Amino acid sequence: MMIINPPSKRIHLSVPEFDGKESRYIHEAFQSGQIATSGSFIEKFEDQLEREFGGENIVALNSGTSAIHLGLQLLDVGRGDEVICQSLTFAASANPIVYLGAQPIFVDSESDTWNICPQLLEEVILDRISKGKLPKAIVTVNLFGMPAKMKEIMEVAHRYGIPVLEDAAESVGSRIHHRYCGTFGDIGVFSFNGNKVITTGGGGALVTSNDTWTKRARHLATQAKENHPHYEHSSIGYNYKMNNLAAGIGLAQLGCLKERIAQRRRIFSYYQNALENIAGISFLKELPGYFSNRWLTTVLINPSEAGFDRETLRLSLESRNIESKPIWKPMHLQPVFRQSTYYGGEIAAGFFANGLCLPSSSNLTVQELDRVTECLMLLHQGVFK
Ligand SMILES: *Cc1c(COP(=O)(O)O)cnc(C)c1O
Repeated sequence: MMIINPPSKRIHLSVPEFDGKESRYIHEAFQSGQIATSGSFIEKFEDQLEREFGGENIVALNSGTSAIHLGLQLLDVGRGDEVICQSLTFAASANPIVYLGAQPIFVDSESDTWNICPQLLEEVILDRISKGKLPKAIVTVNLFGMPAKMKEIMEVAHRYGIPVLEDAAESVGSRIHHRYCGTFGDIGVFSFNGNKVITTGGGGALVTSNDTWTKRARHLATQAKENHPHYEHSSIGYNYKMNNLAAGIGLAQLGCLKERIAQRRRIFSYYQNALENIAGISFLKELPGYFSNRWLTTVLINPSEAGFDRETLRLSLESRNIESKPIWKPMHLQPVFRQSTYYGGEIAAGFFANGLCLPSSSNLTVQELDRVTECLMLLHQGVFK
């Protein structure tokens, strides 16, 4: 019997991979009765993260977004303040600015890292100062795992005394030389959401070398409960702590971080080797000394050279049951931020128009990768059906 059009298994953009310890730790947590926001896995996970990322203090939280919200609060961002933010990013980088009653000032990307441009950043700071207001903080992002030019950015920020929150949600394990992303900013943020390089189901962490901020973050994340037998509060707190089950998953995942990154980097290389000679297709390259975790492999399509555009590629992949996603739509083009100030040109907008994230899960097989690359090659040859 002939099978006509066997439905091929869906290839997702980015799914987690487990090594088996996750369920063992969850079982242990249940047996000890510690499934809520106190328990031994939370401390172990934080300790292990601190060892892994060079000894900064780490506070495990229930999401990366919570970590950004708390982080901006520690930087004293409040009503009426201006906060400079990379425009090309996920909305979670910018939303907490608005939670605090402050205004985002969006800035364009540069072509070599896709992240905020240090020169443009300085021009923006000078222009805001000339308009009478020193920005209260800067939110930088290491997009798709690629480090921003953090050294140059920190130099500019220090020159004007503005603190930096480094959104390293996508760049856990990325580094510049030997220094890890998340440790460059005055405050760093990790995400352990289900689609990231390692996961806790849902979770995040705040990174800082400032002990006072670390204590304050722990306090605010646990409803700002004071040390009294009764419930005593002197400030407004949040319910942002990570629970012990999530921390157990995280501890298991962290043990595999290096391997997961190696797998994601191999996927990037596979795509690059297979596709880089096709006219009009280009990849995001590492600068010397830069090491990306390659969370997601992205391609840029130059439609006039390639003979097809980003959306044609996305739909062709979808017709073969392959998930892909356009690059983040820049914040300055989002309806919700249409009133916000923007500095820059069309670089971020161009990445959005022509960029696509390809399936990048660490457990993709060569057969699955070939399903993706074949689709691109057929489009290129103009024989795609
Ligand atoms: C995922 C992500 C976040 C938010 O992290 P959550 O853990 O999902 O809240 C923030 N910023 C960027 C750039 C992200 O990709």
